[in-house]
Amino acid sequence: MLLGSIEAGGTKFVCAVGNEDYQIKDQVQFPTTTPEETLQKTVDYFKQFDAKAIGIASFGPIEIRQNSPKYGYITKTPKPGWQDTDFVGYLKKQLNVPMFFTTDVNGSAYGEYQMALLANERVNSLVYYTIGTGVGGGAIIAGKLLGSAGHPEMGHVLLKRHPDDIEFPGICPFHKDCLEGLVAGPTFDARMNTPGKDVPLTEPVWDILSYYVAQAALQVTLIIRPDKIVFGGGVSSEAFLVKVRRDFAKLLNDYVEVPDFDKYITMPEIQNNGSATVGDFALADLLLRS
Ligand code: ZN
Repeated sequence: MLLGSIEAGGTKFVCAVGNEDYQIKDQVQFPTTTPEETLQKTVDYFKQFDAKAIGIASFGPIEIRQNSPKYGYITKTPKPGWQDTDFVGYLKKQLNVPMFFTTDVNGSAYGEYQMALLANERVNSLVYYTIGTGVGGGAIIAGKLLGSAGHPEMGHVLLKRHPDDIEFPGICPFHKDCLEGLVAGPTFDARMNTPGKDVPLTEPVWDILSYYVAQAALQVTLIIRPDKIVFGGGVSSEAFLVKVRRDFAKLLNDYVEVPDFDKYITMPEIQNNGSATVGDFALADLLLRS
């Protein structure tokens, strides 16, 4: 049996089919252009296979309430041309299989959660953040994705400013200096006119970022008390997370008990940005089994 995955990103779409062990059997990627062109390419891809259900992890914001007339839409996205796009409705009409529609980070969270279960880690809840072009977070608690009135928007929480970063206004179009506005990849260009990949970890800006990311980890720790927090996306790296753990320890100040920091604040287990694909397969599988 084949399961389908659509990882719908703002810059590219990754479509895949996989088996019941969530192993990829075929995969393709193409740039995200207009909704018409991109969704047609997606349909053409899946018409080659007999996927029984498809998991979709999409950029957003998206409408996930099944009882909403806009269920399955990409809603108020800043991505030009994609506002108010009937994503799931279009695909359902063409492919007619069950589809699980969720956010990119929820898909990744679900993939990492599956990996933890397979590895027999004692993980009952998990939070996944991506720190890349944008910042977002998704959470699983006891096998369920968090959020019913809508999906979480953990990338847009407000933080205490780092004393050496007061002047920087932040880049979020909605809030300026929310988490995304302070730590997303493009903040490197905005702060120092240099892309993040060219800024060595010895630069003080990384300590500013780790202070903010550690605050996000603290907030989610105190609100959800998860077993594990995973940081994916292009800005995250093991060396950066060493700084995040250091700042997290200071901020937490032993207030609540959390697992060993190296196991608690981690990089994704699934390599090559593949967490969402595995999560999509698992969510498609879930649809067929429920
Ligand atoms: Zn924001």
